[in-house]
Amino acid sequence: MTDPYAWIKESLATIHRADWYRSVQTIHGQPGAIVLLAGQEVINFASNDYLGLAGDERLIKAAIAAIQEYGTGSTGSRLLSGHRELHRELETAIASLKQTEDAVVFSSGYLANLGAITALVGKRDLILSDQYNHSSLKNGAILSGAAVIEYPHCDVAALKTQLSQQRQNYRRCLIMTDSIFSMDGDLCPLLTLLDLADEFSCMLLVDEAHATGVLGKTGAGCVEHFGCTGRQLIQIGTLSKALGSLGGYVAGSASLIEFLRNRAPTWIYTTGLSPADTAAALAAINIVQQEPQRRVQLWRNVDYLKKLLQQQLPNLKLLPSESPILCFQLPSASEALQVGKQLRQAGIFAPAIRPPTVPTSRLRISLMATHELKHIDKLIAELNNISK
Ligand SMILES: *Cc1c(COP(=O)(O)O)cnc(C)c1O
Repeated sequence: MTDPYAWIKESLATIHRADWYRSVQTIHGQPGAIVLLAGQEVINFASNDYLGLAGDERLIKAAIAAIQEYGTGSTGSRLLSGHRELHRELETAIASLKQTEDAVVFSSGYLANLGAITALVGKRDLILSDQYNHSSLKNGAILSGAAVIEYPHCDVAALKTQLSQQRQNYRRCLIMTDSIFSMDGDLCPLLTLLDLADEFSCMLLVDEAHATGVLGKTGAGCVEHFGCTGRQLIQIGTLSKALGSLGGYVAGSASLIEFLRNRAPTWIYTTGLSPADTAAALAAINIVQQEPQRRVQLWRNVDYLKKLLQQQLPNLKLLPSESPILCFQLPSASEALQVGKQLRQAGIFAPAIRPPTVPTSRLRISLMATHELKHIDKLIAELNNISK
């Protein structure tokens, strides 16, 4: 008899051989632009904490106060014993930031996507999904049982062709896309997607995970950036990136949100968001709305880094980006790992992103409002060193 678990070790060996093996790295102390990584102080270009709020004193105080008032756990699902006034306050704050009729919070952005997609479409329906969408959208699509067609990245002509050929064969249709693509940094063609959704009677789901707090005049995201506030669509996002906490949300019409509270399994059958996470996210949204200068600072850093890259490192293969996420394409996984390692030795934390997360290996830099210009200068100096 063969050992039924033997394949696991063989599989791990294959992952190692391909340079796809991954493991955790320990960060000590507070999050921020500078962190202690396995005992070494490094400039952090690996964080989703775009506004530097995860270590903000006001979020910490709000979380502590919520624990003291409500305890550590929500103790039940929202529909049974886990609903608190704090959850409603957070949902109202999200709806006000997004200028939607309502919002509902989930325990993570991943669960928000799984829950919304499986509630909205099923076996008789069609999903059209950008090829580079986040894992949570892709797995939500599979879980829904709908027919799934991936269209080439941001290719609206290909999407239109698919819609003309396929739309009439299905009951409902859901087009879905990241707004800022998480491993590339470019934006979805939102205006054209909205037009196509109208033309072919499709729902449109936009995942604002990396754009909330980052894009748009008030930090509402890509939808605001493109002047589409108030248009009919399904906006999803996370509380765990620019908002410095943990959790996810769906924002949209009152009927959409009411429906999800009755039909989204990852909301109905899971414990409500913890009081500490809820309170921290609520404090973060207040800061996003009251301190636009954080966003100004973030975009100043993005412009500064882009300018220096163009001037000093024109040969680096920078992927198209309109966000604080900047990626350099590298020829192989092992080279990406090598560059990541060299930067790390120089005190810079910028991870190599490899298949299967992305089709081609790259180094990914994400900027924060709390980076200082000297941090970016140091990154440029080290990239210059490496490319010599
Ligand atoms: C991070 C991310 C998510 C998941 O959000 P979590 O709150 O971390 O679960 C979903 N979609 C996109 C595009 C993301 O980048």
